[in-house]
Amino acid sequence: MDIQSRYETEKEKEAEGKMNADVVIAGAGPAASTVAGITASEGLRVIVLEKEKEIGRSPCAGYVGSMDFPDISGRVIQSKINRMTTFFPSGRHLTSPLNGFNVNRNLFDKELAVTASRQGARFYMNSEVVGFIEKEDGYSGIQTRDGKRIKAKILVGADGASSIISRLLGFNNDVATAVQYEISNCRMDPETNEVYFDTGYAPGCYAWIFPTGRDSVRVGLGIRHHLAEKSALDYLNAFIEEHPIASKKLKNALKVRLIAGIIPVGGLRKRIYQDNIVMIEDSAGMTDPVTGAGIGYSMLAGKIAAKAIVEAIKGNDLSRLKRYEQGFRRVMERHYEKSLKKRELMDSLTDNKSLEQNLPRIWVAFKEYWREVG
Ligand SMILES: Cc1cc2nc3c(=O)[nH]c(=O)nc-3n(C[C@H](O)[C@H](O)[C@H](O)COP(=O)(O)OP(=O)(O)OC[C@H]3O[C@@H](n4cnc5c(N)ncnc54)[C@H](O)[C@@H]3O)c2cc1C
Repeated sequence: MDIQSRYETEKEKEAEGKMNADVVIAGAGPAASTVAGITASEGLRVIVLEKEKEIGRSPCAGYVGSMDFPDISGRVIQSKINRMTTFFPSGRHLTSPLNGFNVNRNLFDKELAVTASRQGARFYMNSEVVGFIEKEDGYSGIQTRDGKRIKAKILVGADGASSIISRLLGFNNDVATAVQYEISNCRMDPETNEVYFDTGYAPGCYAWIFPTGRDSVRVGLGIRHHLAEKSALDYLNAFIEEHPIASKKLKNALKVRLIAGIIPVGGLRKRIYQDNIVMIEDSAGMTDPVTGAGIGYSMLAGKIAAKAIVEAIKGNDLSRLKRYEQGFRRVMERHYEKSLKKRELMDSLTDNKSLEQNLPRIWVAFKEYWREVG
């Protein structure tokens, strides 16, 4: 079939709500666009389904390391970050070097999607994945709420922390809840990200103040529900109004946007692929269980997954998907095992005295942390 006829056939199928692809991806975040771009550039037919009407709506504080994104576009950078200041519960603090950017997640995700679409991937907005298309011995595609039925050889769950793909496969998430304000009218050092540890403000997690320009910041925190006595938003308002150090810096703050989300903290799933289904980043538990960072891992996992997907489809051998699981675990498994131990320790530090003593063991700014994690 020539390209024009194939295009027309696909258009007809699209109109009927029935489409075929080599790879169909749930979600259009960084993990999805990474996989979509690489696989499409290898000639595979790739469809990406996003439930929102717009790409880049995921809640995020927007910090990315410069090593993970050496080619980042200036358009998405809000602040170049050179330092991190970590505050203990007592108020003493440590300032350490940090090399990265606070980015506008909305633009960041859109740029990745534009790149993937230039490489040939097709994106559909307002297309919430609600289930699989079943076949005798597994799944042959994905269905959306608006009636699309996309048959594909390989299905990818890149649908974030509340992933339906991972839930349909029976995986549960252990999560932290996070809330964040974008704030204007607030003068902070634009090159320093600040993090605050205090069981009275962010039980089981931490609070952050990340600059996004000369007079704007993102202020947020996470909590572990089983350690909390009130809602995450109540903790955040208290942090802004009452924290002995942060409240002074945020005195004239104008809150312009509130967002909330969940962060997987249970570490890497036991399986990150099953038959013809691949899970990636948040949906596979790849977010760091202590820092909550996930964007960098989505790039790494995306590249390894894409290579395995291309090999599986071109070689007509789905068993080659195991190279994704093997490849990712080879590089990252020990890191997650150790980070998970840090998460368990962090969950056990329920009073400020023990948090003060143990903070250097659980937080990335301290050499004690790296001595244990390696
Ligand atoms: C408050 C907060 C702050 C954070 N700050 C940072 C930070 O500073 N740095 C960092 O590295 N990480 C941070 N993270 C984590 C980071 O946001 C995630 O790890 C990262 O976005 C995961 O990428 P992803 O591609 O797996 O999922 P997402 O970026 O969440 O993308 C998933 C996409 O799937 C879509 N989707 C969901 N369900 C469906 C469905 N059923 N059908 C179709 N589409 C669907 C979503 O709308 C979304 O667009 C933060 C998280 C939170 C909640």
